[in-house]
Amino acid sequence: RAKSNGAASYEIFDAAMGAQALLQLEKQTDVRRAVERREFVVFYQPKVELSSGALHGFEALVRWAHPERGIVSPGEFIPLAEESDLIVRIGRFVLEESCRQAKVWRDRYGAHAPAVGVNLSARQFRDPNLARIVGAALEETGLDPNALLLEVTESAMMDDAESSGARLRELKALGVRIAIDDFGTGYSSLAYLQHFPLDMLKIDRSFVTELGRDPKGTAIIEAVSSLGHLLEMQVLAEGVETTDQLARLRDLGCELGQGYYWSRPLPQEEAEELIAKSFGTANGG
Ligand code: C2E
Ligand code: MG
Ligand code: MG
Ligand code: MG
Repeated sequence: RAKSNGAASYEIFDAAMGAQALLQLEKQTDVRRAVERREFVVFYQPKVELSSGALHGFEALVRWAHPERGIVSPGEFIPLAEESDLIVRIGRFVLEESCRQAKVWRDRYGAHAPAVGVNLSARQFRDPNLARIVGAALEETGLDPNALLLEVTESAMMDDAESSGARLRELKALGVRIAIDDFGTGYSSLAYLQHFPLDMLKIDRSFVTELGRDPKGTAIIEAVSSLGHLLEMQVLAEGVETTDQLARLRDLGCELGQGYYWSRPLPQEEAEELIAKSFGTANGG
């Protein structure tokens, strides 16, 4: 709020605020319209076993197929959608679409077909209807629950750690798997972490980027991956881009990776080609 500069500057400040609020509102309206027009699509990024290079699973990553702008990345609309119920609607679409796709792959390639990880934002994670929504998606698509991995960021989980435990157990009861995402960027309480029913720990890309640059970065990855294993989780490194990072991660005991080194997130047809290549031809259903 402008103080001593008088009425004129106060008005300018106020007008700027108004313009920004208006822009924000316009963007919200655009996203809402996109939801109604079903302009969102799901891309899939492979997760890979570091020892063998085998395809382990996919992470579903939403994109906005904008009629004029082309493919728009989630960084541009997820934070906006997160401010309202829009995120719940987008989230439900991604969940249903991913389950439907994972079911197709299961039917085609059997129980070893890649599982699919779906991101849940903080607001979705807090939604009291979440377990019902996930349960409905599984039921409607007929997907085996263990082929679905829900990715919840460390910060969303630790934000209200007290109620997160109950929420996670409610989800686990459906038979799905759960990953703690972007690990190392939030503030984990180890006391809680120990009691959360988690299946996978995803080490944030920022630590992987530091590998080989800073010896402390290496020590952190080694420590986090032992912590994950001690708590009986699979450990995945995010954002692997180089051969050197891959070699180091293997040495540090990480078993899974994801990153541009193998592949960017792929449109569904290209993800299918990748599965077909790694599984050979379909096993006849
Ligand atoms: P995330 O869940 O941590 O996803 C990983 C992000 O890292 C993705 O960005 C992916 O494309 C990017 N990435 C993967 N490998 C590399 C690499 O080697 N180098 C670099 N520089 N980046 C890499 P993307 O697709 O832009 O998604 C960003 C974030 O948006 C996601 O972070 C997730 O938090 C959110 N998001 C994406 N899809 C959804 C969704 O369906 N629902 C919700 N709630 N959030 C989503
Ligand atoms: Mg994720
Ligand atoms: Mg992540
Ligand atoms: Mg991340």
